[in-house]
Amino acid sequence: MSAENYVYKKEVDWSLFNYGLSIPISHQVIFRQIAGRFIERGESKEITLYLNGRSYKARLNNLRIDPKYKNHVDMVHIRYSAGSDIAEALRGCFSRSYAYISRLKELQPPGSKGRIRIPEDMKEYLAIYTTEYDDSYILEPIMAGDLQAYRESIKDRKERMVEASIDYDVIDPGASFSETKRLMRIRKLNRKIGENLKILYGYRCQICGRIIGEEFGSHIAEAHHIDYYVTSLNNDSNNQMVLCPNHHSIIHDADPRFDRKRMLYLYPNGLEQKIVMNLHLY
Ligand SMILES: [Zn+2]
Ligand SMILES: [Zn+2]
Repeated sequence: MSAENYVYKKEVDWSLFNYGLSIPISHQVIFRQIAGRFIERGESKEITLYLNGRSYKARLNNLRIDPKYKNHVDMVHIRYSAGSDIAEALRGCFSRSYAYISRLKELQPPGSKGRIRIPEDMKEYLAIYTTEYDDSYILEPIMAGDLQAYRESIKDRKERMVEASIDYDVIDPGASFSETKRLMRIRKLNRKIGENLKILYGYRCQICGRIIGEEFGSHIAEAHHIDYYVTSLNNDSNNQMVLCPNHHSIIHDADPRFDRKRMLYLYPNGLEQKIVMNLHLY
């Protein structure tokens, strides 16, 4: 397994430019499994973040949560100050988001605590991955322009083909090099989120509960996007589901509707198929 494991997909917001981010580790399987290697509960330590080939210092904190708070989400925090090099680098990297939020903040009445929402087509993200070193992380920015280019590149393609290119990391030979490089980050993040889920389910299909290929010492699972990715460009884990190749093909062929309230697929012929395993959808 590669050392670059998925940690988190952070939507760019004001906190990222000023003090850091919080990572809920409940669904981040690999990171949670090895979180103890990275940080003990209640511990705080210095870490190195790599962004666009440069390294930056920050702190990793794991707050000890009082056990009397039930339903708490275990969190790990990456922290730095507004004047730090990493904060400045992130403001430079996501200059569009920074300018947008800054302008709206100026318009807000003083002391206002309202959270500023960035319009969907302007949203930017920071992907975080582990490295082979316990105290170093890779940060990969995904800019609104990259997402726009990616949307363009897949808009006439079939969902199943785009998903296959993500699942099996097949690169479109027709894409130009610079385009490929920009878009590879988006495909990688999508794949890493899917991989994280496959590990969470032990490569079992969420519909039939089977591991395909187990008797051959293999396991074939695919990540399906509930709202089709070519139209939604939504790769959040809450929009992805782990399926065996058969159920995945049936879903794309029959085009059932997913009912999130009842956690089932409703087929055009009236059949209802419940999800038998669910550890992450809500
Ligand atoms: Zn299945
Ligand atoms: Zn699919």
